[in-house]
Amino acid sequence: MQYDFIFNGGGVAALSLAMYMNENLFFADKKILIIESQKKDKNDKTFSFWTTDESFFEKIVHKQWKKIAFLHPKFEKNIDIFPYVYKTIRAIDFYQYCQNNLKKNKNITFLSTKSHIYGSTPSCAWVQTDAGNFEAQWLFNSVPNAGSTKKIIKKKPYHYYLQHFKGWIIHTKKDVFDVETATFMDFRLPQKKGEASFMYLLPTSKNESLVEYTIFGQNIFTHEIYEAEIKNYIHNFLHLQENEYEIKETEFGVIPMFDEPFVQKESSFVMNIGAAGGATKASTGYTFQNIQKESQKIIASLMTNSTPFYANSWLEKRFSLYDSMLLEVMQSQQLNGADIFQMMFEKHLPTKIFRFLDNESNFLEELQIMASVPSFPFVKAFFNLVQKGYFFKK
Ligand SMILES: Cc1cc2nc3c(=O)[nH]c(=O)nc-3n(C[C@H](O)[C@H](O)[C@H](O)COP(=O)(O)OP(=O)(O)OC[C@H]3O[C@@H](n4cnc5c(N)ncnc54)[C@H](O)[C@@H]3O)c2cc1C
Repeated sequence: MQYDFIFNGGGVAALSLAMYMNENLFFADKKILIIESQKKDKNDKTFSFWTTDESFFEKIVHKQWKKIAFLHPKFEKNIDIFPYVYKTIRAIDFYQYCQNNLKKNKNITFLSTKSHIYGSTPSCAWVQTDAGNFEAQWLFNSVPNAGSTKKIIKKKPYHYYLQHFKGWIIHTKKDVFDVETATFMDFRLPQKKGEASFMYLLPTSKNESLVEYTIFGQNIFTHEIYEAEIKNYIHNFLHLQENEYEIKETEFGVIPMFDEPFVQKESSFVMNIGAAGGATKASTGYTFQNIQKESQKIIASLMTNSTPFYANSWLEKRFSLYDSMLLEVMQSQQLNGADIFQMMFEKHLPTKIFRFLDNESNFLEELQIMASVPSFPFVKAFFNLVQKGYFFKK
């Protein structure tokens, strides 16, 4: 066998898992190949997340906030999130930090090429690339839809929301931002039925911030629509004229918020990881921290069971049901997405909401959070899902 592990795709999930392997003596003599088609030399994203602990990537945390703001026409709150801290990492720092560390290990090879197809033989995994064919004991795939040329077929009980967003990092002439506070969600925007639209602000100084227009919806917009909304917001809420700020960087992204279960075990020796393996939280789009948890579970499973595949307990799976219920309530337009979050944030501390969104809350906290919104739409959503065959398909 040429390699112990091949990574098909060298983005966040692959580099994270490879970093955990790199610092663990159990993997010291393992031969690893990372196949990536892009140079990864651009700051194409920022990864933000909340945590109570030091991040595994603490050294490259670009900025952190101890407070978050939640705004809605009916309710506004600026909240200290202790013991949590909201952190952000720039993609370029992440790629460089991981690559610089991993390239010091002579057992790790980076291959800059495009992969095509991959699969399992009875005894190992294989991949075909523009630079040749390779074999390993295990292949971790993080290339979305890599195993399939088919378009996504939407199945009945599930929801296929997209989190789509465009953001500008703006530099302003005067001081306008509260550098201590990240604006988690500002819903003081026009809302469409069945969707949720908000602004997200990450200030890095009094006169510099990411201002991002984010939508949980079904269809992406033209760039003009996002830009018009960002301009309106800067004018109406930051009270700046166009000549009072300049755009330093832009970010655009689409994150699938699908609740259809993702296939983890693609074939005997191929495991899907990252967004391709279902690491995205269907009701929020947050993925980065789930990738870290997933990496740690894979490491533990390899060390104890000699396989990367692990099973989530039945109890853990209840969080997928909550995600689906929330999406069903929004899609069936029983409650406006903005109002669901407003009721949650009005009645609960973000610490409890963060635990819930991290799939780490207990039953009592989950009941309390669910009781903060009118129960009828959620009960109806539950029975809609039952009727659509949700529990039989899972
Ligand atoms: C703009 C943006 C901002 C985001 N911000 C956040 C955030 O703030 N917080 C959060 O939790 N999540 C965020 N996410 C979601 C998620 O964390 C990222 O999408 C993350 O990159 C997912 O990691 P991944 O490894 O699954 O996919 P990727 O990082 O996309 O890795 C897949 C890799 O496969 C490579 N590839 C594709 N095709 C081939 C091929 N044929 N051959 C070889 N290589 C190939 C790609 O170049 C890519 O590097 C964001 C996503 C986007 C798009």
